[in-house]
Amino acid sequence: MTSPRDILKTTFGFDHFRGVQEQVVDRVMAGRHTLAVMPTGAGKSLCYQLPALARPGTALVISPLIALMHDQIRSAEAFGIRAASLTSADENRERTIDRLRAGELDLIYAAPERATTEGFRRLIDRVPLSLIAIDEAHCVSEWGHDFRPDYRLLRPLLDAFADVPRLALTATADARTRADILAQLGIAEDGLIISGFDRPNIRYHVQPRDGLGGQLKALLAAHPGPGIVYAPSRDGAEKIAEQVAGGGRKALPYHAGLEPQVRARNQAAFVASEEMVIAATVAFGMGIDKPDVRFVAHAGIPKSVEAYYQETGRAGRDGDPAEAWLFWSAEDFARARRRIETEVEPDRRPGERDRLNALAAFVETAGCRRAVLLRHFGEDPPESCGNCDNCLNPPQTVDATEIARKLLSAAFRTEMRFGVAHLTDVLAGNDNDKVRSFGHDRLSVFGIASADELQLVRPVSRALIARDALRADAYGGLSFGPAAKAILKGGEEVRITVPPKRQKAKRPRDGG
Ligand code: ADP
Ligand code: ZN
Repeated sequence: MTSPRDILKTTFGFDHFRGVQEQVVDRVMAGRHTLAVMPTGAGKSLCYQLPALARPGTALVISPLIALMHDQIRSAEAFGIRAASLTSADENRERTIDRLRAGELDLIYAAPERATTEGFRRLIDRVPLSLIAIDEAHCVSEWGHDFRPDYRLLRPLLDAFADVPRLALTATADARTRADILAQLGIAEDGLIISGFDRPNIRYHVQPRDGLGGQLKALLAAHPGPGIVYAPSRDGAEKIAEQVAGGGRKALPYHAGLEPQVRARNQAAFVASEEMVIAATVAFGMGIDKPDVRFVAHAGIPKSVEAYYQETGRAGRDGDPAEAWLFWSAEDFARARRRIETEVEPDRRPGERDRLNALAAFVETAGCRRAVLLRHFGEDPPESCGNCDNCLNPPQTVDATEIARKLLSAAFRTEMRFGVAHLTDVLAGNDNDKVRSFGHDRLSVFGIASADELQLVRPVSRALIARDALRADAYGGLSFGPAAKAILKGGEEVRITVPPKRQKAKRPRDGG
């Protein structure tokens, strides 16, 4: 039989394995269960495609999305690998089943819902399997950012084929999620192979959103190459696409609300283009192989650090310099917190809060962004990377603990229902009509902030909302979050970065 190294050369046309690929392939070839955690672009597909060719039988690949499967099949077929999927979207299922039975397929893709049915089991019982790959394996874990209950039902299937090596693959898994994947899929701890998470060619920038239109304009002017702008909503994606196109740059939207043909067309146009901007919701990206994306911008906060890493990881897969920009606002965090407290099942709230706090720490840090990301994934990076906004332009930080306390006290004294503008008036000692009509000019906090401190109220309120010391309701009314107490009483320091001087025109609302 041909060796994996020969297949690498003859089938894929590559001279070398990349990073941990060889380690993963060797383990699978030895028939051992494995969890490979590799960043986007590291070449996960090859890790199962190659052993699928080198081992006798057909590889079963579990994948969560039809679009993802079809992309994978297309790229496998481009290498001359025989691959097909069994999904509701496939009209030639009979033929695929025949090919499978005749041993004419190297890879068979299925979603977990189908793979766990009786019928599928009967089918696969008579097919020699070379391996079972579980793609996007973080979907099996409730700790992961993309939990799919159907992934939990895979275990009996895996155990029924105990001798078939299983290979779980994911780009995003923190330590807790990793441990959970191993346990859920029955993979021994020594089966964990992690490749480095660093994407040294990506330069990270994080900024408070302050007139998104202008911020994007500046970004686009500096980046003529193709880029993705992630918007928090379909409307947002449409609006951004329009704005960008209006500015003379080719731009198209992409979101789940578009007709499938339109979506496919926009995606294809983007993949083919050397200058286009795609304004998308997170529906865009999985399985898209465009190596020359020069920037990924987020117009609002992503779901988690993992999601951020994965989404920004679509930039610069070719290894050339690329940039990631995140434009955030306190309202993003406030909204995410409200969602957790109202829409998430109570027992999943602590995990979700942790995830949001980790994201807040990334956004708020005055230190190296890359270091925060890599530490999140369990690495021990150097303190400074030299290729993120904070390393290139170390921000000034100030101790804002005093004004943070004053702001919290003002929120408390005014019964925790006023927004930052009113609280600023109270702290400044502005006895305007509203302040007087509520009797807030008689409070102990009236006029207690100095002019310097007043400058910091807005950035401090942002920081407090991000770290859940203050919670904003839908109208901006501020009340205490769980982190308030430690600041007010416990002497926890609030250090904030001083925004670079640019705020000229004050905007009443953040753009979005
Ligand atoms: P992932 O699924 O981890 O995001 P892919 O499997 O899509 O990554 O691979 C990313 C790109 O890298 C693909 O274009 C693939 O052909 C290429 N690639 C994979 N392995 C190698 C290798 N050993 N040498 C060169 N290119 C590779
Ligand atoms: Zn850095």
